[in-house]
Amino acid sequence: MLAGPSGAGKTTLAHHLVDTFRSAMFSVSTTTRSLRGSEEDGSDYFFVSREEFEKRIEKGFFLEWAEVHGHLYGTSEEWVSGQIAEGRSVILDIDVQGALQVKDAFPESVLIFILPASPEVLSDRLINRSTDDSEIILERVKAAAWETGWIGAFDYFVRNDRLEDSVKQVENILQGEGNRLVNMPFPDEARVFEPDSFLGREYWKNRRIIVTSGPTREPLDDVRFISNRSSGLMGSSMAEAFRDAGSDVLFVTGSTCNMNPPGVSTVNITTASDMLAVLGNEVGKADLLVMAAAVSDFKPVSYMHGKMERAGECELQLKATPDILSTLNKTVECMCPVLAFALEFGEDGEEKALKKMRHKGACAVFLNRGDISGIGMEATGNEGMIIFEDSSSLMIHRCSKRYAAELVVAAMGRYMIKGIGGE
Ligand code: ADP
Ligand code: 5GP
Repeated sequence: MLAGPSGAGKTTLAHHLVDTFRSAMFSVSTTTRSLRGSEEDGSDYFFVSREEFEKRIEKGFFLEWAEVHGHLYGTSEEWVSGQIAEGRSVILDIDVQGALQVKDAFPESVLIFILPASPEVLSDRLINRSTDDSEIILERVKAAAWETGWIGAFDYFVRNDRLEDSVKQVENILQGEGNRLVNMPFPDEARVFEPDSFLGREYWKNRRIIVTSGPTREPLDDVRFISNRSSGLMGSSMAEAFRDAGSDVLFVTGSTCNMNPPGVSTVNITTASDMLAVLGNEVGKADLLVMAAAVSDFKPVSYMHGKMERAGECELQLKATPDILSTLNKTVECMCPVLAFALEFGEDGEEKALKKMRHKGACAVFLNRGDISGIGMEATGNEGMIIFEDSSSLMIHRCSKRYAAELVVAAMGRYMIKGIGGE
């Protein structure tokens, strides 16, 4: 995303980037401002009336929108999501308010603040651009100070003095970003070498996998609920890893801030009971159930419509939610194999995870340690151990959750092909 004062050079730089990066697409915004100079409707902007713009806001058409210099500007949600789903990068030339909204929706996006060489150069460029009259130019130069106050929220800045230098700097930023494993935790390029640790993933081609993910929410009243800190990232990474191995994935997810992975069928659920109901209908047709969801163990004994009044002290009574795997084992005729996830604290985690696996009738369990910082809940990385039915195990050393998911998919594949332990 390129943002910064009007006249700083965002549009000029954006056009250079589209020429350099073949997979980058320029997002054409919608605006209520009128067409100026040589601009064309549909290629510079989609020009609409304020009334039409407001209708689109109501319909949720915009990924972000903002009022800038007295006009409304917005980015189409559908277009951006479509491009990303097809693996393209999107270049946005938007104001700071919009850029911060997009960063919220896509935390992995790259924010570059374009600074003009100086306030004088900014007015000169706006004058030379000959698109606005002097009153508008004055307004835009004044707004530059307010906009520049937001520079601290950006990932990078580029001072647009000599155009060739600025283009190079932005290209370097994007090239560096492109190779950051945080953004691309399991690069397609790595597959070319098919390291031994990925042997086994071929087993999952054309198989039906159910992946559960995220926390469940157990409502207390119409606004409050009991839940947990699960971000759902391990679950969505598992869904992506099975999808990339060629599986047909059903992703059953509680509420999270993540985008649902493209290329999988998603069912959104709220409570543990909702999850049980969905799984009850699906597990009989699946080849594997991956229980990566952090299902709430408790729910309030009673539920109140509306909003509980704030009182000095009150007691919250809880009862256990249904044990999903035990219930499925009892009620489903043809239960599929299960990979369970366990979050344990302390040195005896392995023992507890094994017990859990046997109790739940799972064939393997991924053990996460809850007491090691930087992994597990809310973290982007993970480390842990997959333990199989025969007590054999495989260590997964600290890596991104997406990479860990690839290793788990492969290890589970080896287990299915060669029997217990997968070796
Ligand atoms: P923005 O999109 O940020 O409003 P533009 O890309 O339209 O800004 O640039 C404003 C004007 O400055 C344009 O006439 C453009 O050709 C010119 N310009 C942009 N970058 C440079 C630069 N580095 N040196 C000289 N002129 C520039
Ligand atoms: P201009 O009228 O000069 O084309 O653009 C004025 C300002 O609006 C610029 O700062 C530009 O980046 C911003 N802008 C253009 N499109 C969008 C958009 O879709 N959303 C937001 N928030 N700002 C935009």
